[in-house]
Amino acid sequence: MPPVPLTDRVLMGPGPCNPYPEVAAAFARPLLGHLDPEFIALLDDTNERLRQVFRTTNPLTFPVSGTGSAGMEAAFVNVVEPGDAVVVGVNGVFGERMCDVAGRCGAEVVRVEAPWGQPLDPQSLLDAHPSPRLIAAVHAETSTGVRNDVACLGQHLRHQDAEALVLVDCVTSLGGIPVEVDGWGVDLAYAGTQKCLGVPPGLAPFTAGERAVARLVDRPRSWYLDLGMLARYVTGEGARVYHHTAPVSMVYALHAGLGALLDEGLEASWARHRECGEALQAGLVELGFELFAAEGHRLPELTTVWVPADRLPAGMTEADVRRTLLERDGIEIGGGLGEFAGKV
Ligand code: PLP
Repeated sequence: MPPVPLTDRVLMGPGPCNPYPEVAAAFARPLLGHLDPEFIALLDDTNERLRQVFRTTNPLTFPVSGTGSAGMEAAFVNVVEPGDAVVVGVNGVFGERMCDVAGRCGAEVVRVEAPWGQPLDPQSLLDAHPSPRLIAAVHAETSTGVRNDVACLGQHLRHQDAEALVLVDCVTSLGGIPVEVDGWGVDLAYAGTQKCLGVPPGLAPFTAGERAVARLVDRPRSWYLDLGMLARYVTGEGARVYHHTAPVSMVYALHAGLGALLDEGLEASWARHRECGEALQAGLVELGFELFAAEGHRLPELTTVWVPADRLPAGMTEADVRRTLLERDGIEIGGGLGEFAGKV
């Protein structure tokens, strides 16, 4: 049999990134059953570490089995019923994906748009509908490198005694920039493991607060992502009830990644991302590149630049440049998406 390819790349695209060494080592641990008391203890500790990283005390905090998109679906299918008004901020691919998911739940989707590269206006999200079931936004829009201001949404709604829940996509923000689930009054949030948590793709860290739990739909359209059924396996004091076979080794890996992050310290991690991002962005500008994301809303952990078409070697496209970087230097970077494919 030919060997499995094992080229060691420097992963500098929008994810996955290179895992922490502790994470790589975690995959080699002996496999346990998904109901083994030792594994349940490790799962509980993973959930506790996730609470620290999400900055929440929500009991229902755990890794959904599946990638970030599974976290997105879990959030929508458990609180949205057909006919509910759902406000979604759209300024990139992942806000667009939220509209698709909410629409599949039968929601009346109210889109609040901003041009790609620009941030969403939080007040427009709050004003878009008089009584939505949910207001949803992507914190770090991976397709554009923009940080959306989501911190004020929950606080504002609570101030007005509004019923709407706040849902935030933290896939590219968790671990890289401040996320304060409780402090910001966020009711539902999810992330992915393959970005600033330094773990391969495969789990979606997830948290749901009291208000969201009180408003779970009776019978979500997804059996696999039914939070009521999942909660009986992932949380609680007594015996756990089998729901699905948890991806045990991925939970080892996430536990190790969160350990490395918390050992460094969340604030220290945010500061490291800020320092590296600012250095990269300043360096690129010095080299003559133009940054894509609006100033003041640039993510330090994800940098987007316009392709300087006039400076590419004759006959080369940006895809050729990325291929050369990958094949010659073992470095992966990402290409633009949607209408910015080939341009960013
Ligand atoms: N949301 C955002 C902001 C993302 O960047 C991604 C993936 O890059 C997703 C959701 C979907 O995550 P996944 O590809 O892990 O399913």
